[in-house]
Amino acid sequence: MKTRQVIKMQYNLHTHTYRCNHAVGEDRDYVETAIKSGIKVLGFSDHTPQFFKKDGYYSFFRMKPELAEDYAKSILSLKKEYQNDIQILFGFEVEYYPECYDRLREFLAQFEPDYLIMGQHFIGNEHDVDEYYANERNRGDLLLRHYVDQVIEGLSTGDFTYVAHPDILYYIGDPDFYKNEMRRLCQYARDNAFPLEYNVQGFKYKKCYPNPAFWRIVKETGAGALLGIDAHDPVALTEIELYSDCRSRLAGTGLAPLEFEKIKIRKPFSKPFR
Ligand SMILES: [Zn+2]
Ligand SMILES: [Zn+2]
Repeated sequence: MKTRQVIKMQYNLHTHTYRCNHAVGEDRDYVETAIKSGIKVLGFSDHTPQFFKKDGYYSFFRMKPELAEDYAKSILSLKKEYQNDIQILFGFEVEYYPECYDRLREFLAQFEPDYLIMGQHFIGNEHDVDEYYANERNRGDLLLRHYVDQVIEGLSTGDFTYVAHPDILYYIGDPDFYKNEMRRLCQYARDNAFPLEYNVQGFKYKKCYPNPAFWRIVKETGAGALLGIDAHDPVALTEIELYSDCRSRLAGTGLAPLEFEKIKIRKPFSKPFR
């Protein structure tokens, strides 16, 4: 009989809540499920509100600004209540949009989050780049370059702890171009100690990420890797086999996820923007 090594999920810093309109479960369910799964550190990083400058535009897959206070209160109170059982971190998943990042910073700073992860689902300012949904269409080389530039610019604010699904951008152009561009991203991440996330939900739902070509570049450049469950349902925190599969895939590329202690959790907004 084949024996399977039991893998523990030590930590997960990518967890959503119902406030983003496409996740389910009570906040407490995520915490209790994580404890049952043996997770030692659970980070909440729900989709941030944004302050778009386009009149009437708001994306449906993120919390509204008026829910942020409730989110903060809930997570901070769970953090206290469960402090003897699990370490809870309070954060947001954030797109870096140049036109409204000042406003976002000012808004989020009042809640004093422990960390932010960058999940750059769109480029430009979300509403201003045609066919911008980076993981749906092949927009060619310009889009890829724009994506890499924007991620690096966002990371340079010093506000982010890691990059969620860095390989979200769907690209079917020249493999050498892909390599060169993504190498820039990975080298920046390596030089500045930003781990890159192998996204467990992307693997589960067979999205265009995790992209094996990208992870070979991560290995080649020596950037840090970690696993992010990207839980939109407490059940995702129990999917140990899936998690183990992802870990094996990473191992197949010669990579192992960082231990939690090796991750530099950056307190956001500690340096001025611009
Ligand atoms: Zn989501
Ligand atoms: Zn997410």
